[in-house]
Amino acid sequence: MKYFYIILVAAIPLFSGGLQASDKIKVVTTLPDLRTIVEQIGGDKVTAHAIARGYQDPHFVDAKPSFVLKLKQAELFAQIGLDLEIGWVPPLLETARNKKIYFGGSGYVDASKGIELLEIPTTDAAQLRSEGDIHIYGNPHYWLDPRNGKIIAKNMYEALSAAKPEFEALFRRNLEAFNARIDSAYTVWTQTIAPFKGSKIIAYHNSWPYFEKAFGIEIVDFIEPKPGIPPTPSHLISIIKRMKQENIKAIIISPYYDGKPARSVAKRSNAVVVEFAPSVGAFAEINTYFDLFNYNIKALTRALNK
Ligand SMILES: [Zn+2]
Repeated sequence: MKYFYIILVAAIPLFSGGLQASDKIKVVTTLPDLRTIVEQIGGDKVTAHAIARGYQDPHFVDAKPSFVLKLKQAELFAQIGLDLEIGWVPPLLETARNKKIYFGGSGYVDASKGIELLEIPTTDAAQLRSEGDIHIYGNPHYWLDPRNGKIIAKNMYEALSAAKPEFEALFRRNLEAFNARIDSAYTVWTQTIAPFKGSKIIAYHNSWPYFEKAFGIEIVDFIEPKPGIPPTPSHLISIIKRMKQENIKAIIISPYYDGKPARSVAKRSNAVVVEFAPSVGAFAEINTYFDLFNYNIKALTRALNK
């Protein structure tokens, strides 16, 4: 009896006080952008990990085996969806064998729910895939419009509230604070970019239609002739011609693309190459969703000012 009492007393501290690490909602996301948003909404009630690094091409991620263990233990799994991660997420989820977070499971979050998609193809998806295209359900780079961040945040709020209903009010307050922050930052960003509205730009990959829509710039051509297809010399020559004709001053590239074709096109058309951050963590100073837009807006205005 005495022993029992001692054990009981000793056990009490485990169940009182703050939330234990094991009580936190374990979240795994594909991209760091989703990780930072779920952390904003979940606060100290979540522990979140992103599989991809911000400087990796989100279409082609070589996921470390250590993530299978994290997926096995995860309560929520969030991905961008469409076909962005189609090459690497299904095998990971199959290996993890965690029914809860598998496609359609209670802990599976498709962050694209409610997003107004751009560039939905009219051609049959199977045919596009056979041609090597990797945007067969519409453009999946929607997190690059900060207003879509609010929709992603709402999806996270719903998933977190379903996982831990007792904290719903807290998650709602965090969502409202996040939305307000986006609204005020968006006003500043659009004001900063306003003098360059309508500027024509070239990009390496078609990652930016949502960014264009959000900020009023026009990306008129790509170094890649099709998403996922490497550039050919004749395609590059046609771009150089167009840049000269239309006085296009900037080419956007991302850290994971071969910079050589873009630099050679820029040199021959008297333009500049701008390194854009496609995700949180693309460069060391980009730690949050807000840093991502601060960085890109600054890089673009600097380039167009030249
Ligand atoms: Zn893409």
